[in-house]
Amino acid sequence: MRILADAEILRLWEQGQSQHPLDRLLTILLAGLPGKSRQELADLSIGDRDRLLLDFRENHFGEMLQAYGVCPACRARLEFSLETAQLRLGEMPERNGEEFSLTLSGCELTYRLPTSRDLAAAAALADLQEARELVLRRCLVGASQNGTPSSLEDLPEEVVSDLIEALSRQDPQADISLAMHCPECGHLWEILFDIGLFVWTDLMLAARRLVREVHILASAYGWSEAEILSLPPARRQAYLDLVLA
Ligand SMILES: [Zn+2]
Repeated sequence: MRILADAEILRLWEQGQSQHPLDRLLTILLAGLPGKSRQELADLSIGDRDRLLLDFRENHFGEMLQAYGVCPACRARLEFSLETAQLRLGEMPERNGEEFSLTLSGCELTYRLPTSRDLAAAAALADLQEARELVLRRCLVGASQNGTPSSLEDLPEEVVSDLIEALSRQDPQADISLAMHCPECGHLWEILFDIGLFVWTDLMLAARRLVREVHILASAYGWSEAEILSLPPARRQAYLDLVLA
């Protein structure tokens, strides 16, 4: 994963603002991995995508994450920190387009793992249940019942729930949940962790800080944005300290 210069961070922020969150994450990864195409990144399983987003986060903003949650029982606000290593479920080979099979109750299924493309298609649907079914239908490459071709709708419920379970078992990094404990009332619950949201928030904060630094130094010295962004961070900070002293 390439380390982006400050000018590139600003460009990503600018580009990402008008994009759907799923496209925005691909734009971020594409900037860090210039050897890959957008198409290749869109075809990664969600877990593989999230593993790369963890790399991006570590390389640009460090290993510590500050998070917060609200206790659903007493509404207390909890702040906690996490390390990226806690969110990484071991290394797995990238499984672009790999197909898997499942046999249960006379049914034979062939399927692949959900990708950003599947989530993008599902994001267009307002109904959560319909969106889930669309992802399943797209990932189900083939199905038969006692040798006769079958569709998702005709499969027994237990087979469909086995398929859902298999998808999350084969791509565990796509589904990171955190066990939460409220120190105020003792309530226990789980939250889903979304690395994409963290990376985008970090990028926004970094971009706002950079814009502010450019504003301060340009106002004080009349330098251009490009000149200010090309200053090494320590030297830029030294000038900022002088202006703000
Ligand atoms: Zn509580």
